[in-house]
Amino acid sequence: MKCVEVKISGTVQGVGFRPFIYRTAKKFSLYGFIANISFGVLVEFEGMEQNIVDALEYIQNHMPRGASIDSIQVSEKDFSNYKEFKIVNSQANSNNKISVSPDLGICKGCLEEMDDPKSRFYKYPFISCASCGPRLTILEDIPYDRPYTSMIDFEMCEECKKDYSNPEDRRYHAQTISCNKCGPKLWMDESDNAIDTAIKMLQQGKIVGIKGVGGYHIACNAQDDNVVDLLRQRKKRLHKPFAVMMSFEKILEHCYVSKFEKELLMNTANPIVLLRQKEGSTISKHVNSNVNTLGVMLPYTGIHKLLTGQIDALVMTSGNISGEPIITSEQDAKTKLSNVADSFISHNRRITIGCDDSVIKCINNATIIIRRSRGFVPLGISLGKNVPDLLACGGDLKNTFCIFTSNNAYLSQHIGDLINKCTFDWYIKNINDFRRLLKANFKYVACDYHPEYQSTKYAYTLDLPIIKVQHHHAHIASVIGEHNIEGEVIGVAFDGTGYGDDNSIWGGEFFSATRGEYTREYHLDYVKMPGGEAAVKEPWRMAISYLYNTYGQLPDIEFVNTKEEYNIILSLIQNSYNSPQTSSMGRFFDAVSSLIGIRDTITYEGQAAVELEAIADKYTKEVYSFEIEDRIIYTKSIVGEVVNDIKKGITKQIISGKFHNTLSDIVLEACKRIYKKKGLRKVVLAGGVFQNTTLLERCINQLTKHGFTVYFNSIVPLNDAGLSFGQTVVASDYICTL
Ligand code: ZN
Ligand code: ZN
Ligand code: FE
Repeated sequence: MKCVEVKISGTVQGVGFRPFIYRTAKKFSLYGFIANISFGVLVEFEGMEQNIVDALEYIQNHMPRGASIDSIQVSEKDFSNYKEFKIVNSQANSNNKISVSPDLGICKGCLEEMDDPKSRFYKYPFISCASCGPRLTILEDIPYDRPYTSMIDFEMCEECKKDYSNPEDRRYHAQTISCNKCGPKLWMDESDNAIDTAIKMLQQGKIVGIKGVGGYHIACNAQDDNVVDLLRQRKKRLHKPFAVMMSFEKILEHCYVSKFEKELLMNTANPIVLLRQKEGSTISKHVNSNVNTLGVMLPYTGIHKLLTGQIDALVMTSGNISGEPIITSEQDAKTKLSNVADSFISHNRRITIGCDDSVIKCINNATIIIRRSRGFVPLGISLGKNVPDLLACGGDLKNTFCIFTSNNAYLSQHIGDLINKCTFDWYIKNINDFRRLLKANFKYVACDYHPEYQSTKYAYTLDLPIIKVQHHHAHIASVIGEHNIEGEVIGVAFDGTGYGDDNSIWGGEFFSATRGEYTREYHLDYVKMPGGEAAVKEPWRMAISYLYNTYGQLPDIEFVNTKEEYNIILSLIQNSYNSPQTSSMGRFFDAVSSLIGIRDTITYEGQAAVELEAIADKYTKEVYSFEIEDRIIYTKSIVGEVVNDIKKGITKQIISGKFHNTLSDIVLEACKRIYKKKGLRKVVLAGGVFQNTTLLERCINQLTKHGFTVYFNSIVPLNDAGLSFGQTVVASDYICTL
């Protein structure tokens, strides 16, 4: 006989961990107790030595979905002669900083009960248990207990009470427990049979707003061209792809799904996964025109399950006005979205923290997170060091903020573009909510160099020591921090716009860098951005700029012969009027996309590059030539040869393929030179341009073949949504040196 004390840290709250340990103790005939402590749980096991060993192994291999263990510490204890195994209830302790679970998609057990006419949860839209259901989005305070969630509005019926207090039941201590009798109610217009009414409307080609877990969705039949087109007009969202919700069987009909992608879809977060669409898929072309991926997700609540049981494929796009945060209340939905949706399904469970769906894609059996929101927030990310509490404000586009406290970096949900007043207000609200929930007490604030960023201006209002972080250093540091890389790395940061040390707009950068420092080794040749921000929305302006940079005039090709306004842009460039310099890789993509006739103006960020990638011929081995001299990567010969190819009538597909090949050759060549100079073998690929699978895969393959080790973001977004985490990495390193 033996007695051990086991301390387990990680996400072990709100995921049914204590009843799991209780059942494990019974299974292995162990006595003792389990209790919540700061950062996790404390267990004592008393019993046969081998049983204890087996139980510990069992815990690691069978823990509930949604739970994750950071560490298990086991130490021997004096024998206490326990007579049973007990769950000791935790007292609300203001010093307890326990990591709250993110929202968990509906589990298998609940799906089965929904289908069982004998169950009191039959067809119950809000079904949940200890290992599934909303968590963060109903949270008002910590610890995560029913009175501190919006479930406080619903009193448990006798049966629910019984299950809640029975350690053998899978809803033991499930804070969201409720049933058809006692739980939240769903409605639509005057009808109390909301689901059937909604299904009828959707089948008739109507657009329906649906209140879900983190906010409203706007839904319509994804296989009906007319209604998808109508939704685009009403939402004023002309091209940006919509996500589609389908059962797994339906996803298989429309998309190619690898084993790894299947796991991503079924992850407790149930994110939107970008998959390759099958030829002959009957999803409306208006859902994802001009791109070669389809964003799909599984039904992740009872409501979704009931709807997708009747309609094969539903467009499910965030319920918001373009540029504004996701809508969470019925009142806002009715005032702001009445022009978009014909009707709304609402319910009376309050959403306390709005959260969009997360977006993920898979590359070489690794993930790339494009949007890290519902299902991932507020999981902490360890930095391997401890510093005083700090707030990193992030960037202005695709903003997230990041709070460092109690050994972990907590990245916020997707906030959006701060230039919008509504979104900025929501940013402040969320910073305050997270500070309260995490009990953080900021001692420092980190932000971008850009003096005009709203996030930077906000940092200055806080009256705290400010640590400013260069944009691309933050991108690179986010990878260094995520992978805990020691020492110096080669950092490749390719993105759209970031404020540089010389007040230019950077974005095609090669650094040698550590967490604390960076040297700009190489960068893309500067060109002008005629009209500044206007050049981002109108890639044809960048095409003019690149042509001028190459030829000193506009060459005789069809592209420039057709439009008169090109001379106006040319004069902006020649007179350096409102035309900042940029080394942005994103703008280079825009220029080529426009030059070959893919896209001249965009309606969503990155569109020209996304559509250029979508057509790239994967089989062409050819490349364009480039020169590197004095830290500058010259693009003139690339543009010159693209123009020659256009004149020769080479297809867009081949030109795009050659362009992609050229960029990965540039990456390899620059890395080789930095290796020669500094002996560095670790390469970090960072920034939004690397969402381009074709480019990222090719860079990884080539660099690896030449002896480099390649790192990129997998749990932090690699676009500007990851900046706040990168700022946290740089700032925490700086604070350590003080
Ligand atoms: Zn469940
Ligand atoms: Zn009940
Ligand atoms: Fe960036």
